Amino acid sequence: MSTHEHLFAIRLMQHLVVPTFVLDPEGRVMIWNNACERLTNVSADEVVGTKDHWKAFYPEARECLADLVVQERIEDIEKLYATHSVKDDVFVGVRAENWAVMPRASKRLYLAINCGPIYDDDGNMIAVVETLRDMTEQKRAEEALQSLAHKDGLTNLANRRSFDISLEADVLQARRRGDHLALLLCDVDYFKPYNDTYGHQAGDECLKKVAAVVGEQALRPTDLAARYGGEEFAIILPNTADDGAFQVAERLRKSVEALNLEHTNSLTEGRVTMSIGYVSVRPDDHIEPSHLIERADAALYQAKQSGRNQVKGYQSDN
Ligand code: GH3
Ligand code: MG
Ligand code: MG
Repeated sequence: MSTHEHLFAIRLMQHLVVPTFVLDPEGRVMIWNNACERLTNVSADEVVGTKDHWKAFYPEARECLADLVVQERIEDIEKLYATHSVKDDVFVGVRAENWAVMPRASKRLYLAINCGPIYDDDGNMIAVVETLRDMTEQKRAEEALQSLAHKDGLTNLANRRSFDISLEADVLQARRRGDHLALLLCDVDYFKPYNDTYGHQAGDECLKKVAAVVGEQALRPTDLAARYGGEEFAIILPNTADDGAFQVAERLRKSVEALNLEHTNSLTEGRVTMSIGYVSVRPDDHIEPSHLIERADAALYQAKQSGRNQVKGYQSDN
């Protein structure tokens, strides 16, 4: 390449609309193009000739994809990037996706990163080029879709589908670990008369308020509160024995009562109440998710029969 061609290539890179930076074989920044300046709010002057490029993306020193390629440590990609792929081989390039904090741009961005080494005619690595693409909008759209698929639209709790998936997984895990697993089934008392008295829309508002209280009972990260159907809710409590399940159920029952939502046609309290059935098992190989549901449902039936606004645990003879 002539000097003229060389300068032309650098200029081209400089003005490429794709945010791009280039490291030399020692890992120092050679080129930090205009689009990269705009994306990161870090100017070329600050980073060219240094190894400070990480500052554009992260608050603390860590390697970028280009560093791994320079150092031929591509196996470490697993530790640094949740989503990644290595093309046919590293000599062609690697790809990763990542949330970057972007301290100088003061915004979190989801970046798709492509990176590949450049070799001279003798096969020596002379540079590593990293290009970046801002995928934040696509990622957010994807996350919103995911959330739509897993959440109930009215209450924002987990929907029936994610409840089914979670219960199945939690039964397997409890079996593996020999842990307890508890399930609560909760049903609003006299909800049909509520709709008949106050209208369906008021019914929806009431369900939202009740659901918020149900959601508050799922305290541990592994707990799951879901809308099981109509005016029925479910809570899965991994690693929870009988007394723990009772406590959560009773706290929930009282919290719904404490909402103090008027319900003149309720035969219990003159306000909205909830009946709850619970079961806690140590799943052996014979327990299926459906057995848990049947047992919690039997207990819920007992709670209804006993006058509603009550908590009942599953008894094997009921
Ligand atoms: P019980 O104390 O025995 O549970 O009596 P209930 O009236 O609550 O029982 P039932 O299952 O007969 O009625 C449930 C009612 O819940 C009927 C249905 O119209 C209402 N419902 C179900 N889903 C919704 C919803 O999304 N919004 C509203 N507003 N009402 C709903
Ligand atoms: Mg019902
Ligand atoms: Mg009901």
